[in-house]
Amino acid sequence: MATGFSASVDAMFERAAGLMDLGPGLQEKIRVCNATYTVRFGVRLRGAIHTFTGYRSVHSEHMEPVKGGIRYALSVNQDEVEALASLMTYKCALVEVPYGGSKGGLCIDPRAWDEHELELITRRFAYELIKRDMINPAQNVPAPDMGTGEREMAWISDQYQRMNTTDINGRACVTGKPLNAGGIAGRVEATGRGVQYALREFFRTSEDVAEAGLSGTLDGKRVIVQGLGNVGFHAAHFLQTEDGCRITAIIERDGAIHSPGGLDVDAVHLHIQENGGVKGFPGATFEPDGAALLEAECDILIPAALEGVIHAGNAANIKAPLIIEAANGPVTSDADAILRDKGTIVIPDMYANAGGVTVSYFEWVKNLSHIRFGRMQRRAEEARHQLLVDELERLSRARDVPWELSSDFKSQYLRGAGELELVRSGLDDTMRAAFQSIREVWRTRDDVSDLRTAAFVVAIGRIASSYRAKGL
Ligand code: GLU
Repeated sequence: MATGFSASVDAMFERAAGLMDLGPGLQEKIRVCNATYTVRFGVRLRGAIHTFTGYRSVHSEHMEPVKGGIRYALSVNQDEVEALASLMTYKCALVEVPYGGSKGGLCIDPRAWDEHELELITRRFAYELIKRDMINPAQNVPAPDMGTGEREMAWISDQYQRMNTTDINGRACVTGKPLNAGGIAGRVEATGRGVQYALREFFRTSEDVAEAGLSGTLDGKRVIVQGLGNVGFHAAHFLQTEDGCRITAIIERDGAIHSPGGLDVDAVHLHIQENGGVKGFPGATFEPDGAALLEAECDILIPAALEGVIHAGNAANIKAPLIIEAANGPVTSDADAILRDKGTIVIPDMYANAGGVTVSYFEWVKNLSHIRFGRMQRRAEEARHQLLVDELERLSRARDVPWELSSDFKSQYLRGAGELELVRSGLDDTMRAAFQSIREVWRTRDDVSDLRTAAFVVAIGRIASSYRAKGL
């Protein structure tokens, strides 16, 4: 039985690596976390010096820079940061973004401090990491994670640029920045969008859908979401508004709400912002024991909050035939074994939530190229489309053919792709390609019966060839 987050990820890794012929020592080299830096720093706040503990862990440098978010939570600890860094390594390899894996964390309750105080703390943490090259466009590029967002990334970017005034690529030192500070359109929604694209890709093959005991499309599927933070909210919002899913329950910190007819995700999100929780949301039933809803009847369960929420104690009771891991590590390795035995299909975190780092990669490329995506080609594309539409309309007039292009078609076809469209297209392409690489292993190898093991096999294979190519 694996105890602890790192041990759980390692157990899943070993299960897959054991099926591969990696050669002596390479398996161990890939698995271990290369280094973890712990820093304790003081900040003078409210008339006293407060000491904070932060981490930046580098799991694998087979590609550089290394990449991964910075988490702000009281529960942050070395084991967690190392487990999350290892998941970043596998995730980046799986979706083919050219990075090694890293993760950072600060032990802090972000809600206990006001904005100005958080800025002082963040800048000081960033200073400690920057001066040791643990934030650097070529070496280590953080991003948002739980408890952080665009605001913190803007402070980190500014701090780096103040300390490296002649680095023309300074903005690429961190991703997830606001648009007006070097960010990219579509980064905030990216992880949730990726969850949606992953589900769409899964539902494209009826054979796979049948394996989960389901049929048809996403339309009308009953979905339970745990955690309506940035990832859970965007996933639920897009699935409800664009794919016709019915969000039957939402689990939050203060409990859960459910309604068989479906909950309005946007309204629940607003209610949480105004009231600090889901309790009191009109037209739904409140359940103070939120975790109980993980075990409720539904078609798709989306854990989008913390690690370890589906464990040996509740896995056997999970009724959802399909789980998609929007969070990192929501299913422990023990629970994973129980779910496998039950025939539950789990779309694993390293694939399901890779939308964030994928769009982070696009942002980093944008920063290094110093130009917004689509700026050069958008109007040229529109002009070529206009030529075609004009010609078709001329032909129809010349031959007196009584047809007309609908104005809806014309407005869609004539619009050249801007940054947001390009980012979504790049993300969709990435999610489709990554799923196909997992699927190939899943469907062709007799010794691989689940998507997580298949994903590990793909990721480990790529990391191994990268190590072999460059030597150690
Ligand atoms: N924190 C996110 C993750 O766990 C994003 C990482 C990134 O964009 O670098 O994947």
